[in-house]
Amino acid sequence: MDKTIRILIFAAIVGLTGAYAYADEVSECMPPGEHWKTIRSEYFTIYCHPGVKISKVEKKVKYSDYIFGEYFCSRDNLSVEEKLAAKVNYIMLKVKKILNMNPEKMHLNLVIFSNQRQLRRAVSEKGAEKSNNSVVSCYIHNKETIYTTQKDISRNVLVHEIAHAVCDHYFIILPPPNIKEVLSQYVEMHFEE
Ligand SMILES: [Zn+2]
Repeated sequence: MDKTIRILIFAAIVGLTGAYAYADEVSECMPPGEHWKTIRSEYFTIYCHPGVKISKVEKKVKYSDYIFGEYFCSRDNLSVEEKLAAKVNYIMLKVKKILNMNPEKMHLNLVIFSNQRQLRRAVSEKGAEKSNNSVVSCYIHNKETIYTTQKDISRNVLVHEIAHAVCDHYFIILPPPNIKEVLSQYVEMHFEE
């Protein structure tokens, strides 16, 4: 296994020492609602709508190679919450590495809704990417939050939106949207190299 990959995996595991916890607290970044599940890690606070099955979400964030899946996620002693937290931490580290951008003090919210209806209701049309006239997933910088759904989440969706977040934190003067889009697509293309 490549040395850099080992370092990234180690860093992702260390990122878990922030531990995860269920909480009823509601952040201002998401719609009010009780019983949202909260998973905390070094780089993310993940908020799951009560209708979201975390085991399903964790499985949908897959790797087609063996970088992470074989080495780490197949370990039985980790909960699905720990696996999900480790995966998103790992994606963050690798996105930063591909972009060669390492903005300091970056901690994002990841809000996972059950369905598109909830997401559309919560996310204003302004600032959200659109696909076929509907918001699939998006990153909104002034809330430092990625919004997605159980149905839409995937490794690539997270890679793409995290790349947007890294760029928005890195540049003092933000590049035009089309340039940021190209950067996110570049990271998606090279993620498994
Ligand atoms: Zn985009």
